[in-house]
Amino acid sequence: MKKLFALFLAFCLAVGCGVCRAEEEETVIVASFYPVYILAKNVLQDVPGVRLACMAAPSTGCLHDYQLLTSDMRALSSAAALLINGAGMEGFLPMIREQLPDLPIVDCGAGVALLEEEDHHSDEDGHGEEGNPHIWLSPVNAIQMVQNMADGLSVLLPDAAGIIQQNAADYEARLSALDAELAAAIAALPGRDIVTFHEAFPYFAARYGLNVAAVVAIEPEEPLSPRMLTDVIERVRAAGNPPLFAEAQYDSAALRIISQETGAPLYALNALTSGPDALTAYEDGMRENLAALTEALGNERP
Ligand SMILES: [Zn+2]
Repeated sequence: MKKLFALFLAFCLAVGCGVCRAEEEETVIVASFYPVYILAKNVLQDVPGVRLACMAAPSTGCLHDYQLLTSDMRALSSAAALLINGAGMEGFLPMIREQLPDLPIVDCGAGVALLEEEDHHSDEDGHGEEGNPHIWLSPVNAIQMVQNMADGLSVLLPDAAGIIQQNAADYEARLSALDAELAAAIAALPGRDIVTFHEAFPYFAARYGLNVAAVVAIEPEEPLSPRMLTDVIERVRAAGNPPLFAEAQYDSAALRIISQETGAPLYALNALTSGPDALTAYEDGMRENLAALTEALGNERP
């Protein structure tokens, strides 16, 4: 009888609220770009009344040259919070702070020890002077990002703090297992040197004892000049022609030329800046990377 009454009550409430009001009461949390979105998707899983949105289109890649769109500002103006990678990846942050001073911003990268960028260049590329912003590519950093995110969201959504912290703990355990799996597998590989398209992998390399022998593009969005290409080819040769890694998000033409010129084999790594809208996308992408590294570094080359 109690059950029936509860059902009846639930029915009345549902009819009384109506669909429109339910939409109005939805809390929107915006992630700046794909890797932050995937972490947040896990942290906010099953939190009632919350919708997670990804600001930059999944095809954006890194946010190095990202220009805010009018639609971004509109989405942010009705959001309850913006989750950022931090570490200088969101070069547009000052503009958001100026135009939406009341929007809570959760800096997921807070407290992560930053690596210096190999080649320092001007501010205008969006990197800023804070260091290398590709922090999410070390699972250990990703764990810290998840915890920062959970702590920030727990304050903003106190009613959901319990489920948010439990989600974070569960996800951190999965990421920790992933880290152990990567560490053991990569430690067993004979090769150490890799050449990557842009400077996305230093945190990954540092975590697993790999050496980024050269980086092809300093400005990933800009075509390489013939002079830069010649320089990279020389550096690859000097490093003994280690395997080259393209990134799906960027044109691999320069890498194909370097591969032809040096004989260095060409593979691909996933910087996890785009991918499926799936809870396990980070782990799946990292396991893809492990497979590519195993193929590239698994055999001593002649
Ligand atoms: Zn990048």
